[in-house]
Amino acid sequence: MPFNSNFPYSESNSSYSDLLLDIDYGNVESILFYPRRREVDVLYKNGETAKIPILYNDQLILRKATESNLTLTINNSNRDMAIAESAVTFGLLLIFITGFLVILRGTSKIASKAFGFGKSRAKFFTIEEVETRFDDVAGVPEAAEELKEIIEFLKRPQKLLDLGATVPKGVLLIGPPGTGKTLLAKAIAGESGVPFISIAASEFVELFVGVGASRVRDLFQKASQKSPCIVFIDEIDSIGRQRGSGIGGGNDEREQTLNQLLTELDGFAENSGVIVLAATNRPDILDSALLRPGRFDRKIEVMLPDRNGRKKILSVHSLTKPLSSNVDLNFWAARTIGFSGAELENLLNESAIHCARSKSKEIKNEHIEDALEKITLGIRSSKLVNSNSKKLRAYNEVGRALVSSVRNGIKSIDKITLLPRIGSYTAVTLIAPDEEVLNSGLISKKHLLTKIEIALAGRAAETVVFGFREITQYAENDLKYATAIAKEMVTKYGFSLMGPVNNSQNDNEVFLGNSLLRNKSLIADKTAKQIDKEIMDISKKALNNSINIITNNRSLLDKLADILVIEETIDNKRFSEIVSTSLKV
Ligand code: ADP
Repeated sequence: MPFNSNFPYSESNSSYSDLLLDIDYGNVESILFYPRRREVDVLYKNGETAKIPILYNDQLILRKATESNLTLTINNSNRDMAIAESAVTFGLLLIFITGFLVILRGTSKIASKAFGFGKSRAKFFTIEEVETRFDDVAGVPEAAEELKEIIEFLKRPQKLLDLGATVPKGVLLIGPPGTGKTLLAKAIAGESGVPFISIAASEFVELFVGVGASRVRDLFQKASQKSPCIVFIDEIDSIGRQRGSGIGGGNDEREQTLNQLLTELDGFAENSGVIVLAATNRPDILDSALLRPGRFDRKIEVMLPDRNGRKKILSVHSLTKPLSSNVDLNFWAARTIGFSGAELENLLNESAIHCARSKSKEIKNEHIEDALEKITLGIRSSKLVNSNSKKLRAYNEVGRALVSSVRNGIKSIDKITLLPRIGSYTAVTLIAPDEEVLNSGLISKKHLLTKIEIALAGRAAETVVFGFREITQYAENDLKYATAIAKEMVTKYGFSLMGPVNNSQNDNEVFLGNSLLRNKSLIADKTAKQIDKEIMDISKKALNNSINIITNNRSLLDKLADILVIEETIDNKRFSEIVSTSLKV
């Protein structure tokens, strides 16, 4: 309907055809166009306005408006749009440039690593004058004794040379991590007053073939400049593994690095004053060429400390700490079977933290106890609620403790606790490792059978208390552990009825390629069946033994489980108080 000035105009009923008619009738004052928008603002002669949809790029309106001499305006807001658009473009460009720069920096880093490795030579090994002395290394008397002749040589070379003695060029220190291998090497340097040049062998291996070898050359060049000195190569197994193995090309870079190391070791003269000490905990995987005379021909084992050693290490590290006079280091040495020097140091550090937390001035036994618990078990999480599962856990743990007490003595139990730990155990029975086995490295058949019995004792307790139909999956990990031991007994050590045969699929094999290339024969089906049967027989027998032990001690089991549910933790002292008189062995 054409615009009628008598009627108030409302936007809602304005339409395209109305607009056309209004223009024809001369009711329109001006039209405002928006580029790229499909509508116009119309100003009528009566002063009213309206927004009216039009066609895109509408020529009809334009033509009509021009014919009627209307004021046509193009909205200048496209300037704002242009600004917005250019802002977006600018933003995109900025993101693009930043991204480009980041990529460029990354590439240039790789490139500088690749081509500029020569520049950062000083960084991959350290040269220091060390203050460490043999007094700082406790509990490894044999190793320290063997290394003393090297000090003698470094201090008074002429004396040994006059006697015609040759001093080893390379010494391999073998032992578990944290036993003090680095410390020993430092002590030699410190005692002899010579520079200590150290590097982790993994530092040799770089992105590009040839870098490792050039680093080895650099290291030895530096060492001969600084002679007499000690060169210490940590984790030598990372480059010193057997060569010529591995499918898919092997690791050329590692092999080249190792070859260079061998060449350097051969290259420097005997008694030149450079003594190379290398540390590893995997001597079995080292390339035999490394161990040949004139290279690392001297091997020194750095073992885990025994009780006396642990006490000495604890006292070395407690010198700088305010230890209460009540603390008996003998007691703590007995409680830390299997701990390395580094772990013992950590124990005392943790104790100091607990001490500081409790605002005490001296480190007391309870601080060490808390620290030991944190290290062996993890951080305690929230308290347990009383429930059936608490009872079930208690029976599992107490069962384990009883079987261990019968087999290895009451003293083998260090602690039983139901308190859950963050990210680890839900409940645990801490059983001290057999120190003799640890020290001698010899594992008897009896020892392994006992381990399986103890591992399955939780399941045994559940079976005795709740019945075979009510057992739970709580013992899943125990079963896994027990089966692994049984498998080793059968396939590795000849501890089963199958006799003295080794059927293990050499899991010590470092490189998959070796066995594949040798086309190793697989175990015959019949043998595999027999192995499985033996494993099952051992496991079932062990479970039955544990069930018998627990049945014999049923009242003690119930008593201990009740106490554990209430007190949540039973320590070794309390355990032996409860058990010592009534345990039926
Ligand atoms: P490894 O080289 O065998 O891995 P480290 O020599 O690096 O072990 O030992 C780490 C730390 O543990 C040492 O700095 C030292 O504080 C402590 N430590 C290890 N073994 C002993 C030891 N026998 N006597 C004293 N402290 C030790």
